[in-house]
Order: sequence, then structure tokens, then C-alpha cells
Amino acid sequence: MLNVLDSAVPVECWSCSIGQSTTTLFCPHCSKIQPPSGGNYFTVFSLTPHLNIDLAALETEFHRLSRKLHPDRFARATDQEKEWSLADTALLNDAYRTLKEPLRRTEYLLKLEGSEIGEEFAGKDKANPSRVPADLLEEVFELNMQLDEMRMARKVGEEDPALHASLTEAKNKFEAMVNDVDQDLRKEWTNWDQSDQTVRQSSQNKMVSLLDRRRYLSNLLRDVTETLGA
Ligand SMILES: [Zn+2]
Repeated sequence: MLNVLDSAVPVECWSCSIGQSTTTLFCPHCSKIQPPSGGNYFTVFSLTPHLNIDLAALETEFHRLSRKLHPDRFARATDQEKEWSLADTALLNDAYRTLKEPLRRTEYLLKLEGSEIGEEFAGKDKANPSRVPADLLEEVFELNMQLDEMRMARKVGEEDPALHASLTEAKNKFEAMVNDVDQDLRKEWTNWDQSDQTVRQSSQNKMVSLLDRRRYLSNLLRDVTETLGA
């Protein structure tokens, strides 16, 4: 799989004409603003794609770049530079929002590396359209029966304390499973960051399944919470 950074051709600065191998918001040689093209959210922060991010450093860099892009600084600039500063600001904000949040960051990096993830691929597997994780089939079946029972009881105005307790217990259990997934994901972050291309590919596949599992569990939890709170 081709890494976006590896395939990036050197971009020439429009002002000083010196080529740079990575795309940054400002030219490292003449400091002039650059158009928001070619790069990705990591290169906005002059980072290589990785998952264990120093959040304090990211925030500091975000504020530093935000200040550099402030409209006041472009009051006497050309219209073109003004336009770029606005577009770069939008890119910077998107990049920061995505990279600071662990799940968004993981999904973004995986997509960048060519993985197919997200809601749009959830129904792609015809053999298993709902993508129920195999080890959860029985529990999910049981849970869905209880949810139906609960909804029926609600409809006729009945309250079954035993059923309520049992669903609450299931909710806690599935919440613990989400926490387990998050811990496993963090382990894979380190594997991915520290490994060569072969190990990375297997780590990437593991993260894709973990994210699928997490999405599935979250949807289930939303149903249970809604039914319990109705
Ligand atoms: Zn330059």
C-alpha cells in the first residue's frame, strides 16, 4: 500500500521557488503562506502519520499556527494570500479536530493508509451484513429479545423490575466491552507506530476490526440506553 507521504512530489514554493518535500502551511525557507494542497492532516502539523500523539504539543502548535493565520496578519497581503489564509485556517481547524480525538485520529490514519472503514462499509459483507461479532451472537440475540419484551411491556404500561435490572446489567457489561476495545486499540497504536510495513499491515487490519466492533457495541448500547430511559 502506498503511503501518501511517500508518493508526494516536492512542491515548489510560489514565492521563493524552493521545493519542499512535505506540504506545510508556510514555506520553511521564506515563511510565505502556501496554498492548502497536497498534504494531509498530519503534514499540517509537520508530523508523519502516527497514533500516539503528544496532545499538549499538538495544542500548542495549533494555537501557534492559528495566530500565524490570523486575518490581521494578512491585512496588507495579496488577495490570493488572503484567500489561502482562510482556506488554510479551515484546513488547520479540521486537522486539529480530527487528530486530537483518539477515534477520529485512528479512523483518519487508517483511511489514509487505504483501509475501508466506517458506516458506509458496514453492510458490505453480504454473508454477515449486520457484522455481529461472532463471539457476541448469542448475547446479542438474548439482548434483542429482552429489548423487545421491554418495549412491549412499556406499550401496555407495565414495568418489569427484573427485566429492567437485567437490561441494566447487560448495559454495564457492554460498556466494559467498549472499554476493552479502547485498550486494545491503544496497544495497536504503539504496534503501528513502532513497526515496519509488514507488521503495520496486520496491526491496521486489527484496528479496522476493533473499530467495527466498537461501532457495533456503541449502536447496541444506544438502543439499550434508549429503551431503559424511555
Ligand atoms: Zn518559499
